[in-house]
Amino acid sequence: WGDDAPMMIVVLKKQFGLPISSTKNTFKDAGQGVSAYKNFITTYDWYKDTLGRTSFDGKGKEIKCVVNSPAAKNNASYLGGDFRFFICGDAPAFKYALCAGVDVIGHEYTHGVFDAITADGSSMNFSSINEAYADIFGCLIDNDWQMAEWLGEPLRDATGASGNELWGTKYPDTYLGENWSNNDCHINGILLSRAAFRMTQRGFTNEDVAKIWYQSMFYGY
Ligand code: ASP
Ligand code: ZN
Repeated sequence: WGDDAPMMIVVLKKQFGLPISSTKNTFKDAGQGVSAYKNFITTYDWYKDTLGRTSFDGKGKEIKCVVNSPAAKNNASYLGGDFRFFICGDAPAFKYALCAGVDVIGHEYTHGVFDAITADGSSMNFSSINEAYADIFGCLIDNDWQMAEWLGEPLRDATGASGNELWGTKYPDTYLGENWSNNDCHINGILLSRAAFRMTQRGFTNEDVAKIWYQSMFYGY
């Protein structure tokens, strides 16, 4: 990437603060760094081009992502509050690290967007809605309604094609009804992400769906 100042810094576990564009270092986890970098750029550009939103905070905030983070083993996360940066982990349980997919990075980035726009909350309702928005935008950016389908088996499936059961957990058809989870907001979020998916099957374009659901965040989701 040469010596241009990067728009975004990928921070490595043992070398905090070095930009990924540095040519002076060798990176043990270059794969994760490069994947995160590429997918954040794709996501950043998608939000800017589709919704006119610059960075996840809407104010051009520099994006920081720690890769190979032990705090995100087999996972990826947005850290809100005073932190407001991203972490991606090594993934011994999976075929690829989670930062390899633009749907996952789009999901985490959307947590940052949601965090910046909506009120704070921690109830199961709030968290389930938060996860749904994260999946909806991750899927829109990826143009595929299964989350992390590139792992072989999707992590979540708004289409229902995988039989309403993922990794041994059935997901709900109704709010508080059968299969509503008391402990996994990600599973509950499928109830809402499925609604967005179905809009795409009833004549709404991805761009329509993106604009409508984005706007709804400002109305208190
Ligand atoms: N780290 C999060 C979790 O597994 C992933 C996410 O939903 O963003 O709860
Ligand atoms: Zn999430």
